[in-house]
Amino acid sequence: MPDLYWPILLGILGLVFGSFIATVAIRWPQGRSAMRGRSACDGCGKGLAGHELVPLLSFLLQRGRCRGCGKAIHLAHPATEIAGLAIGVAAGLVAPGWEGVAGAVFGWLLLALAALDLAAFWLPNVLTAALALAGVVDGFFFAPGRVDRVLGAVIGFGLLYLVAFTYRHVRKREGLGGGDPKLFGAIGLWLGASMLAPVLLGASVTGLAVAMAMKLSGREIGMTSRLPLGTLLAIAAFPAWLYSVGV
Ligand SMILES: [Zn+2]
Repeated sequence: MPDLYWPILLGILGLVFGSFIATVAIRWPQGRSAMRGRSACDGCGKGLAGHELVPLLSFLLQRGRCRGCGKAIHLAHPATEIAGLAIGVAAGLVAPGWEGVAGAVFGWLLLALAALDLAAFWLPNVLTAALALAGVVDGFFFAPGRVDRVLGAVIGFGLLYLVAFTYRHVRKREGLGGGDPKLFGAIGLWLGASMLAPVLLGASVTGLAVAMAMKLSGREIGMTSRLPLGTLLAIAAFPAWLYSVGV
């Protein structure tokens, strides 16, 4: 298969997965299944016809509104579809072949975790476990080596667990979600111990940028404001994968 096919194929798959991930991120925190029940408008519940289900294209053709109730379609839909597309294309370009497929799976799972943490401050254990399991499988075929990965998992989990533990005892309240150390451990399993510091730095810089943007737009930020750390870690982890495979 020519190299150019991989980014195209993974990009199209990314659109489909992105569309599914948006539905999951909106429905799952409400306790509704994204698997059962057909695709429907988040506003009026009108079932969507086939031509209304095409990622991005339907959104553009309907000018971002539901045909039934006229309500604006949640921007999470096109945003997640574009992110899914970008992940697939980038993974296919950096590593045309099965390593690119593995990287895209890493990116799409991170996208689902990022979306859920942003929507509901929730990193479902089952998704983090899937990320870790995929990392173990990836480790049988591709770099970094297994020792580096095991170290990455142990140090990643241990570091954030220690931060959460210390924060809880000093401040007497929760500073980190319980899912964050597990997610960082799973990321370490994929990228190896040496990439933990760059990912943490990337997450911090992204968090600061978001906080500054919020402040500039006039939103109140206090010491108790919570930014979803899982989202920030996920946003930093995929470029770190691209970098480590690309060099
Ligand atoms: Zn509607």
